[in-house]
Amino acid sequence: MIQPLDRSFGGSQAVATCDDCGHSQYERADYERLSSGAWQVNEGQVIHRLTKSGWSNVKGKLRCMACELKRKAELSEKGQKHMGDNVTELRQPTREQKRQIVEMLGEVYSVDNGRYKGCESDVTVAEAIGGGCMFGWVAQVREDLFGPDGRNEEAETLLADIRQWRETADALSVQVHASLKKFDEARDKVLALEKRLDVVLKAAGPRARSA
Ligand SMILES: [Zn+2]
Repeated sequence: MIQPLDRSFGGSQAVATCDDCGHSQYERADYERLSSGAWQVNEGQVIHRLTKSGWSNVKGKLRCMACELKRKAELSEKGQKHMGDNVTELRQPTREQKRQIVEMLGEVYSVDNGRYKGCESDVTVAEAIGGGCMFGWVAQVREDLFGPDGRNEEAETLLADIRQWRETADALSVQVHASLKKFDEARDKVLALEKRLDVVLKAAGPRARSA
């Protein structure tokens, strides 16, 4: 939101307020005299100045740089989550990974007792193998070739959830950092283009500037 300031205070300024967090700042602004005699702030000019310093104006919503960064990050999180689900569905163990799973299950699973030895589980086996091995693959091989889990299922589910969410969080963190970098690049590009525009306008003389 952009609010005019009483011009009797002398300056030519307006107050810009972030529509998300309420942060506000003064911005230099020109005023135009309406035929009614009232003064009207040039909002387009104020928005132009704000976007130079990282603010955004999307669908009539004005956001400070912090809120704009947050909005962008949330947008890309949504995209990443969607992508992540598909990747999880498509991923399958390689032959080598299957062999490793069978080999390790042979050591930590007791076929006689129909359960894992000690504190071992699908999750610990997947973690020990590493290299992106998923506990779901271990569970599949175990069910097919060895036997039931035989452990406390609730604890197992919680462990599995923790691992899954940790993987999701790691992936999101990478994505957010990449987005921030792109955002910085885009902003730098805007600044560079605006500098060029200033040069062009100055070269064209005062008539072009006031147009
Ligand atoms: Zn804000």
